[in-house]
Amino acid sequence: MKCVVCGLRDAVVMQRHTGRALCRECFIDDVVSRVKREIEKFSMFSGSDRLMIAASGGKDSYVLLDIILKLHDPSKIGVVTIIEGIEGYNRLEDIEKVRKLANASGVDVVVLSLKDYVGYSLTELVNLGFNKNVKVSPCTFCGVLRRKAINEVARDLGFTRVLTAHNLDDEVQTIIMNLLRGDLFRLVQILPNGPILSKLFVRKVKPLRKVYEEEVAIYAHLIGYEFQTTDCPYLRYFPSLRAKIREYLYKIEKEKPGVLLDLIERMDAVLTKYLSQYLNYPELPRCTKCGEPTAYGRNLCMACELLNMVGINSPSYRRSNYVKIYSILS
Ligand code: SF4
Ligand code: ZN
Ligand code: ZN
Repeated sequence: MKCVVCGLRDAVVMQRHTGRALCRECFIDDVVSRVKREIEKFSMFSGSDRLMIAASGGKDSYVLLDIILKLHDPSKIGVVTIIEGIEGYNRLEDIEKVRKLANASGVDVVVLSLKDYVGYSLTELVNLGFNKNVKVSPCTFCGVLRRKAINEVARDLGFTRVLTAHNLDDEVQTIIMNLLRGDLFRLVQILPNGPILSKLFVRKVKPLRKVYEEEVAIYAHLIGYEFQTTDCPYLRYFPSLRAKIREYLYKIEKEKPGVLLDLIERMDAVLTKYLSQYLNYPELPRCTKCGEPTAYGRNLCMACELLNMVGINSPSYRRSNYVKIYSILS
């Protein structure tokens, strides 16, 4: 079957939400131009911005880097990756893939391990938590500390945006979770032009927010990304509500292709109406231990609070311990 767009090359992808059969080139062009439109629609960044891509090393961050390299001046792009230090889970090979792609365009990759940042690897923190019977999932430790470290490193290095590789499926799961909680404030924050609540936050944007996870995987495959076979051993602790929502959304998208895209478009339109009332929220208070932003009405930020829970009462964050890498494996 020939591609329905160019009519020249053989189709290799059935794009389910549009029902179109596309060749490799037309599929890649389609994804890149949709991402570009989304960036422009929400003014996610401009030509003068310095973009820090927060990369896990998985397919999503690899695809994000590939697309951003096509849309922005590489001299204004950086990549940061946080090594969690999870026993039995080696992400170095994945990061090496991102590193190769980045360095080939002259983009620097900076790496910071949690061990160097807070003095403990994720596995060590999780074990401290188990010993103290702390009922917090490893993913909460991981997510909170990674977000904090990425924001601080990006800010220190003068980046003006942090780009994360969340895809459409991730975003719709977040929308449903916040709808179930009735949390309009958090819902509004899914908008790429949502409120920035502290001068210490580098604005975070998600250019892949309208690209299905399946499309990201196909794109990754088409540009030669080799998939890793081992998963993080803590994946089973992923909040079960999100896992259930993911499963449900997967089913309804299968029955009615395009439904997730439709949902996020409608939510964007509704939330945009409410946006103005959240734009003038006061600056967030600062954590009394580390000085970084914390939620209204709290003394400690989440990171300090989590570390306190496992017995680390005077945490020190050594964010300048990052290293610039040119190769991990060689
Ligand atoms: Fe971190 Fe959880 Fe992802 Fe593992 S599954 S890398 S612990 S967020
Ligand atoms: Zn084509
Ligand atoms: Zn703190």
